[in-house]
Amino acid sequence: MEENGQSAVDVPNKFNGIEIKSREKDDPLAQVCWHGPTGEFLVSREEAEELTRRAQIRADALKKKEKEEWLASAGGQLCMKFWSAFREYQDFLLENPQARHMAMGLNDEYYDEHKLFEEGLKVMATYADERAETRRKSLEKAKKSARCQHLHVSGEQCGSPKMRGRKLCYMHERMEEGRNATLDLGPMEDPDSIQVAIRKLQGAIIDGKLGPRQVGQLAYTIQLAAWNVTRTTRLTADQSG
Ligand SMILES: [Zn+2]
Repeated sequence: MEENGQSAVDVPNKFNGIEIKSREKDDPLAQVCWHGPTGEFLVSREEAEELTRRAQIRADALKKKEKEEWLASAGGQLCMKFWSAFREYQDFLLENPQARHMAMGLNDEYYDEHKLFEEGLKVMATYADERAETRRKSLEKAKKSARCQHLHVSGEQCGSPKMRGRKLCYMHERMEEGRNATLDLGPMEDPDSIQVAIRKLQGAIIDGKLGPRQVGQLAYTIQLAAWNVTRTTRLTADQSG
């Protein structure tokens, strides 16, 4: 594959600033595997967003280029002539409704060319409806995906906007972090290190890093350690005495 000198249309990850390269597997910023037209990229969430944005620009540019090429072709030019005559006839009939009668033969049937026009109008109306429906749906989808993905117990989606590059809103992101947080209380082998553990736990509670269940469990482990230390201290004292 050619690496340099290609246009924006050909290479989505090489224009508009910095080139985004695939990261190594052990890179902490290799958070997302982004699948694009030119392959897979291990990238950060922000880079994945940027790649998606660039891919969209590329797709739009490609679409525009293809349309222009078609319009410039012999078939495209004929078709556009047909299209503008269609529009002209439509406008004419709107201004001269009685002219429609003349498009009908003696057997009370429209001439084929007018029949084609009438069918064309119907198809155009259906297309317009379908396009409006697609637009409405994708708008709805965009609105939904811009929202925090947390589901309440009722099954309803959280209404807050999600954080950039994240799935959740600020509050639910914090809650999720808290749930995954582990607190290293240290060795807890003597009264001093137990005191350190207690201070760590207090700090984490004040910072709101832990849920009530975790606080309970950690407090219990400190209790156990404290009980164990008094027991072992007594044993050692007995042995040496
Ligand atoms: Zn939320």
